[in-house]
Amino acid sequence: MTNLSRRDFFQSTAAIAATGVLAAATDTTKAQTGTPSGPVVISSANGIRATDKAATMIRAGADTLDAVIAGVNIVERDPEDNSVGYGGIPNEDGVVELDACVMHGPTCRAGSVASLRNIKTPSLVAQKVMERTDHVMLVGDGASRFARAHGFEETNLLTEKARKHWLRWLENHSNQDDWLPPEVPDKGQHGTADLTVPFHYGTINCCACNEKGEVSGVTTTSGLSYKIPGRVGDSPIIGAGLYVDRHVGAAGSTGRGEAVIKTCGAHTVIEAMRHGMSPTEACLHALKRIVDTTTEKRLRRKDGRPNFDVKFYAVSNTGAYGGAAIWSGGKFSINQGGTNRHEPYTYLYERPEP
Ligand code: ASP
Repeated sequence: MTNLSRRDFFQSTAAIAATGVLAAATDTTKAQTGTPSGPVVISSANGIRATDKAATMIRAGADTLDAVIAGVNIVERDPEDNSVGYGGIPNEDGVVELDACVMHGPTCRAGSVASLRNIKTPSLVAQKVMERTDHVMLVGDGASRFARAHGFEETNLLTEKARKHWLRWLENHSNQDDWLPPEVPDKGQHGTADLTVPFHYGTINCCACNEKGEVSGVTTTSGLSYKIPGRVGDSPIIGAGLYVDRHVGAAGSTGRGEAVIKTCGAHTVIEAMRHGMSPTEACLHALKRIVDTTTEKRLRRKDGRPNFDVKFYAVSNTGAYGGAAIWSGGKFSINQGGTNRHEPYTYLYERPEP
């Protein structure tokens, strides 16, 4: 660890300790050297099927990138997950726009798509951008045309469930427009009035390390609910929503993308690891950078803390892993040592009672 990063880390830790809420570390600092004895795959909470699938594939000899992509494809294709791929919450026009990127550690290559419409698996399109173009990133109509050229099936990604959420948002978010909610609210699945308007950030990041110490990662999302059409979050941005360095490890993020973009989040995590921090320490370091750079009053609570959450996930090329969040309460998915499970994030602040 350099003097700078060590001091920075201790300052960070001191500030956290002062709040009295430094959670029990989930970091596997024991695995700082050598390579893991089996695959280590980390993901967001909604990626529990992804970590299972990816680890199984890696154990059978699959490339780490193919494995994490196959893992997140399960969730991208799942209409019940409203934060990724098919069934994602649409933009303010009712159109689902997807962002994704991939990085392959062994070959140092990357691919990305943003504001992609009508394709359930943007992660696979991002992989094609990496493999079959001289570019890193394609957006909007150009990304769709590229996907079409490669035979990706086009579908309306707006499920009935997501359309109803969007319509309810449209009819209720202002009383100064001409959209009126029904006088008798729709009945939900339990026969009671369904008034929920889900509004969220939501994404899958999935990173893996194999027995040879090879690392790869993918991040995929439908982004911020009811976003301005064309809004691009951190998920498809190399260095923000994902960064992989074969000499260090792989890291990714979920949560408020604007905060992650401004701090080059995943890259910050990897650079901190390069200078000697463990994955959990590095994730906390990047979160603290976000807290420090959130100056806008509208984004801060009365006590000055951010009124949003960001989560980082990281695995080193030695198989150490960690996940950290600004706020307590969540869990990440991990497949390590032959078991697939959720573990609590280390966090900066205890979430207040609602
Ligand atoms: N980071 C994603 C975005 O800002 C959303 C999320 O992870 O919840 O688009």
